[in-house]
This record gives sequence, structure tokens and C-alpha cells, in this order.
Amino acid sequence: MKADAGRGASVRIENCGKTFADGTRALQPATLAIARGETLVLLGPSGCGKTTMLRIIAGLEVPDSGGRVLFDGADVTAVPIEKRNVGMVFQSYALFPNMTVADNIGYGLKIRGVAKAERAARIAELVALTNIAGLEHRRIDQLSGGQRQRVALARAVAIRPAVLLLDEPLTALDAALRDKLRGELDRLLRSLGITTIYVTHDQAEAMALGDRIVVMSKGAIAQVGTPREIYFQPVSRFVAEFVGAANIIEAEIVDGVVRLPGGHWRIAGGINRTHAVAMIRPETIRIADPDTASLHGIVESVSFVGDRQRVVVSGAATGPLSIDAPNAAPIGIGDRVGLVVDAEAIRLLPEQL
Ligand code: ATP
Repeated sequence: MKADAGRGASVRIENCGKTFADGTRALQPATLAIARGETLVLLGPSGCGKTTMLRIIAGLEVPDSGGRVLFDGADVTAVPIEKRNVGMVFQSYALFPNMTVADNIGYGLKIRGVAKAERAARIAELVALTNIAGLEHRRIDQLSGGQRQRVALARAVAIRPAVLLLDEPLTALDAALRDKLRGELDRLLRSLGITTIYVTHDQAEAMALGDRIVVMSKGAIAQVGTPREIYFQPVSRFVAEFVGAANIIEAEIVDGVVRLPGGHWRIAGGINRTHAVAMIRPETIRIADPDTASLHGIVESVSFVGDRQRVVVSGAATGPLSIDAPNAAPIGIGDRVGLVVDAEAIRLLPEQL
């Protein structure tokens, strides 16, 4: 939660599903509560229903009958977007290209009748907050993509919305700029403390920005949790593989003990079955001396990925395992290596139990 959590409205959607006129079931009935000041990220692959959910919250889409949207406990399902006090930013900026930066930012304030002096003060504050000072008098078509997206953000928050809705706002930018803006956006959201719902298909963005993440798949909510919960305790193989690299391993269970190749682990949770699917993240496996480790394999490939190397080891009786190793580790294709896995790093996937 943000430092000065508490600005904006709390949001609740109840039983909000959406079937479009052509019969497409974009969203199965979903219920979610978003706390005042929270940043909630809707994460999932293309077509999973993220934008539809956001549009229902915005008031751009009406949920199927039985669905309700509440802001601060008040039913706004029938309230049109312009009366919901939401700020929105899309992937495409939707700014007025012929107007200046300042006029774009101040637009919502002007149509709400905010006096000129106050408008100017608010614009100055937002220009500083979004790092576009000095560009106030430029026209939008004279700005770079990153600058335009900052203006779009400043414009969305200028009206002090109850809820800020962001739909893939960084997707159109190149990787380096996206990273930079992600950091700026994180600071901006934290300093504003406005309830924010953020749509992305990028798991790194979701982890960095979300107080909580809603992982969606095929029009349904697959899991809701903090970034750490989603990453370390995924409830399904889909979530495990969507939010990061994952080794998925079939495991035998004998007398309540999970037997993975190279070790037996007693894992909490009253397991009375004979088979499970376990997940181990690549960075939780250590490469060790083959003479002391109980699990062994042969290095099949090594790829340098910048801050570490991704090593694939086969023959560990599990199928190939992906392992993240420090760059300094001297590892070559064909090496025989030992592997060490901590019991805490192994996650049994409940869905498959
Ligand atoms: P993306 O990341 O590609 O934007 P998304 O997760 O935001 O995807 P939605 O835009 O919510 O997904 O779409 C969910 C499903 O509903 C898709 O199959 C889409 O084609 C369909 N859909 C969206 N809008 C309409 C519409 N107006 N009429 C019919 N089908 C629609």
C-alpha cells in the first residue's frame, strides 16, 4: 500500500461478467474489492478480459445483468463515465495533438470550471511531478512518445480522480524508456496515493507496480495476491508460468512425503495423495559440487542474460531443469554438475493435487 494511502475511492465489482452482442464471453462474472489508495494490476495474456474489466469499472461498458460496480460503497453501475470521476490513460495517448502540453493537462479542469489561477498552479505541480517541466508550451505533435505518455498521465490525474485507470500505458514505448517510466510511474502513484487499476500483459511491470495483482486467463480470475504471493505461491501451472520462469516437476508422494528426484521433502499441507505437480523457480536452485550434492545432471545449454546466466541441466531424472547462476560461476556445456534445492523453494501446485 502507498505511503499516504487513502486518497480516491474504494472500488468493488460484484458479479461483473460481460457477453458482447456477437456472443463473445469476454468476462465471466467476477467479484473484486480494491482498497482506497491501492494499486491493483490486471495481468494476463492478450484477450483474457483485462480491458473489458477496466472498461466496466470506467463506465464505458455495462456489465451483464446481475453485475454491480460500487465506488465507496455507492452503486455506480448506471452512472456514465463522465460522472464517475475517473482518470484514464490508454496505450494510445488520445491527447489533443494541436494543443499545448499545458492546455492538454488543464483541459479537464477547464471544462469543470476551475479558475485560471488554480489551473495554472495545478498544471505547474503536475508538470514537475511528471518530469516534463520546460515543455509546457510545446504542442503534442512536437513531443516524443515518452513525453506524450507523461502528459497523458498528468492530464488524467489533474482532475484529482477518485479512481485512476491505466490500460497498457507503457506498451507503445521502447524497452529502455518503458523501464524508466515504470520507475517514475511507481513514484508518481505512490506520491498521489490514488486508487489505481492498471492493465498490463507484462509481468515485470505488474510486479513492480502492483500492491496486488489479479492474474486473468480466458475471461476468468486465475489468482489474486501480492506480487510475492503470485510469484512464490501460484495456485496453478498457468499462473506459475505466466509470472516468471518455472520448472514444473511431476512428483511422487509416498506416506505424506514428496519424493522429488534427489531428495524427499515433507511439505506441510496434509497431503494424502500419491502424485503432485511441483514448481521450482530457476533462481532457487544452486549449482554445487557434483560429489557432495544428491542431485546431478549434465549442462545442456548456458545463455548469458545480462545480470546472470540461465543454465539448462538435463539428466537430473526430472527432465531438463532451468537454473539461474551468477555470471562468475564457471559453467560450460557438457559439465557434470550437482544441484541443491531447498525444501522451502518447492511449491506444490494445489490445482493439480
Ligand atoms: P489485450 O491485452 O489484447 O487488450 P484483453 O485481456 O484486454 O486483451 P479484452 O480486450 O478485454 O482482452 O477482450 C476480451 C475478449 O473479448 C477478446 O476475445 C475480445 O476479442 C473480445 N471483445 C472485446 N471487445 C469486444 C466487442 N466490443 N465485441 C465483441 N467481442 C469483444
